[in-house]
Amino acid sequence: MNTPLSRQLVSDPDAPMIVASAEVAAGAVVGARTRIWHQAQVDADVRLGADCVLGKGVHISSAAVIGDKVKIQNGCGVYGAVLEDGVLLAPGVRLLEDPAPRSVTPDGHLKGRDDWRREPVTVRYGATIGANAVIVPGVTVGRFAMVAVGTVVGHDVPDHGLVMGNPARQVGWACQCGHRLDDILTCPSCGRRYLRRPHGLSAAP
Ligand SMILES: [Zn+2]
Repeated sequence: MNTPLSRQLVSDPDAPMIVASAEVAAGAVVGARTRIWHQAQVDADVRLGADCVLGKGVHISSAAVIGDKVKIQNGCGVYGAVLEDGVLLAPGVRLLEDPAPRSVTPDGHLKGRDDWRREPVTVRYGATIGANAVIVPGVTVGRFAMVAVGTVVGHDVPDHGLVMGNPARQVGWACQCGHRLDDILTCPSCGRRYLRRPHGLSAAP
């Protein structure tokens, strides 16, 4: 259960661990046992679930909602995204929010906090986003999808989809365990089998 930081007791064994150099704004909600490392920055309107890990220099803002057991590794930028439980963002991932970004308005004024269009990214349960990948605004990355290192994702990724490149293209399917499936949708590593569904794959019963 999430508790505002101000109400947490230091002696609570389930209290989050936040190092001194991290900046977690008052009002941010941080779940039990979540660890926030050096120079990470969490805005006041962000909600973090339980048992998450935020690496060095992670930035999370714009009302992002993060589930439980989510790992966000060094240097990631998460702008307004929704991350379901069990998501992994490898180092340097960017989840973008504004599909038409400008620094100034058409009449030349500096844009303020309310001048951004919000089309946040959604990353569904168990998905992995590889290092330095960029996900453009409004995209949904499906359950247990695997986005390769450096990919630029401009379209939705199906459940268990394996995508790579710029622009991203689907090159196969990924198992729940992280390995690539063979041609008959079976995992050579763990033996799990999958069936085609309208939204991608799901594990065979
Ligand atoms: Zn497997």
